Amino acid sequence: MTLRIGVIGTGAIGRDHARRINQVLQGGRITALSDVNRASADAVRADIAPDATVFATGEELIASPDVDAVLVTSWGATHEQYVLAAIAAGKPCFCEKPLATTADGAKRIVEAEVAHGTRLVQVGFMRRYDEGYVALKKVTDSQIGAPIMVHAAHRNPTVPEAYTTPMAIHDTLIHEIDVFRWLLDDDYVSARVTFPRSCARTHAKLRDPQIVTLVTAKGTVINTEIFVNCHYGYDIQCEVVGEDGIAKLPEPMAIRTRLNATLSNPILTDWKDRFVASYDVELQDFLRAAAQGTASGPTSWDGYMAAVASDACVAAQEAEGDSIAITYPARPALYGKG
Ligand code: NAP
Repeated sequence: MTLRIGVIGTGAIGRDHARRINQVLQGGRITALSDVNRASADAVRADIAPDATVFATGEELIASPDVDAVLVTSWGATHEQYVLAAIAAGKPCFCEKPLATTADGAKRIVEAEVAHGTRLVQVGFMRRYDEGYVALKKVTDSQIGAPIMVHAAHRNPTVPEAYTTPMAIHDTLIHEIDVFRWLLDDDYVSARVTFPRSCARTHAKLRDPQIVTLVTAKGTVINTEIFVNCHYGYDIQCEVVGEDGIAKLPEPMAIRTRLNATLSNPILTDWKDRFVASYDVELQDFLRAAAQGTASGPTSWDGYMAAVASDACVAAQEAEGDSIAITYPARPALYGKG
């Protein structure tokens, strides 16, 4: 069976996901496109998806009888309306992060999906599909004893001028917030943010770097450094300290050289290269589940939990140094046990 896929939002990642579905993965074909910028959807049709119909609105695309499943890859603030429309139509939906830009918005999606009765939504937290994180989870679950601490870092060489202090949470830490819940099979109970002196490369609206401390319900303490003007490369680090040993996220594959009396390893500089393989695996998983009329991988509940924890981290930035409690309602049965 070839699933007929509609893409809403044909910017950078929408175009790339359309390419994956038509040129790399098995089981799907792009039959519909929509973007507020019509020229962008037309260009993706011309370059990647010649069979696709371009729709004026995302809602018309979702309603089309030629669309079995939907990818929502538009601007974050528009995700909620399209995911809710896909659930109302009973169509599986892959939504890029964030699921919604507010915790209340994500909660509305959870409620709609619970009312529908089966899973339809997969959230684009692709790190759960990264080979390195999958290997780290296997060792964390089975070899190093109960996790006590996690030391992590999310470093970008640079960010656009418009990037501000809260974006370090909503746009950057959001991936760690999700992946550590999954890695540790745990939920957060508090967040605290401390700011070292700011680096010279930043500006007045961005305090950089910052250190976010998340404490989990089981008592694991996670320290993540966010440093988005680190200059030297795009570098994701994660080390889990367990009762019996330590497990570290593998470095990306790179050729080590011995040249000119120097032993060296290159470091990536573009985030797009770091998780490129995991996007393929996550979307193949979406196609597989959507063909059964359901969804797999990160859930709406995970998207909601990430939104709640993000809001707490932003509050913790404002409370500089004070701990902010994180509370959630009970997890609905649709999303498994808590
Ligand atoms: P982008 O290049 O700006 O593309 C977004 C597209 O959506 C643009 O063409 C935009 O049109 C369009 N759009 C805006 N409002 C719309 C609406 N109401 N209906 C339909 N289309 C609309 O952004 P991007 O980098 O692709 O990011 C898109 C989403 O993916 C974001 O939520 C981002 O956080 C997420 N993302 C996730 C990852 C990841 O690692 N998982 C990586 C990249 C992006 P205009 O340009 O005319 O506004």
